[in-house]
Amino acid sequence: MIDTHCHISKEDYQDIDLIIQENIGSGVDKIIISGCTKESIIESLEISKKYPFIYTTIGYHPSEADIITENDLNILENQIKTNSIVGVGEIGLDYHYGKENKEKQITLLKKQMLLAEKYHLPVVIHSRDATEDTISILKEFPKVKGDIHCFSGSAETAMIYKKMGYVIGIGGVVTFKNSNLFRAVEAIGLESIVLETDAPYLAPEPFRGQKNSSKYVPYIAKRVSEILNIEVNEVAEATTKNAVSLFDLK
Ligand SMILES: [Zn+2]
Repeated sequence: MIDTHCHISKEDYQDIDLIIQENIGSGVDKIIISGCTKESIIESLEISKKYPFIYTTIGYHPSEADIITENDLNILENQIKTNSIVGVGEIGLDYHYGKENKEKQITLLKKQMLLAEKYHLPVVIHSRDATEDTISILKEFPKVKGDIHCFSGSAETAMIYKKMGYVIGIGGVVTFKNSNLFRAVEAIGLESIVLETDAPYLAPEPFRGQKNSSKYVPYIAKRVSEILNIEVNEVAEATTKNAVSLFDLK
């Protein structure tokens, strides 16, 4: 199985090497980490160089919209050109804490969509309370494909993304008792799902509230298999294939 999206940083884990070693034998054999601030991009590039089964996507998170300058975008482009990364992200829009800097977020997203298009890379999209704007911006870049990471929306929204050629990142939320995410899983089916943890956040049941880790992907796969009424092996196989193909993992 593949954890298509998580964060591994010294800020969150005391011993990074230990947290990585922990995954060996868990059934998770490839991990895609996301560097999404200036600092974590550098850290993610270093980690992915050290471990052959760890890949990285890089891009500025919408939370960085107020501080990212034109020069930072040039630095990012240079990092994209000179490192072997597998995608641009996580990038996107987040109106959860307010829309005051909405225009800045939109500009930052569009500039990074352009980079993804230019370098033929998939994107990892973060969209929180911003579905409408996210969809309309992604539609401006029909050549770019990607992953709607940590999806928690409706079946209808998931179907819109699916029709646009995006896959849906399903994480720990699907295991929560009060979650309606099963409806989206049923609607899109296995062919459009990739698994992710978004560690250190959003640990699946029965670890909800604790620090998340890639080794918990099998718990997410199991829940997806229950929703679709199929064997967990089928979920593992199909979601691995989807991730390998989207991110062109070798
Ligand atoms: Zn994330």
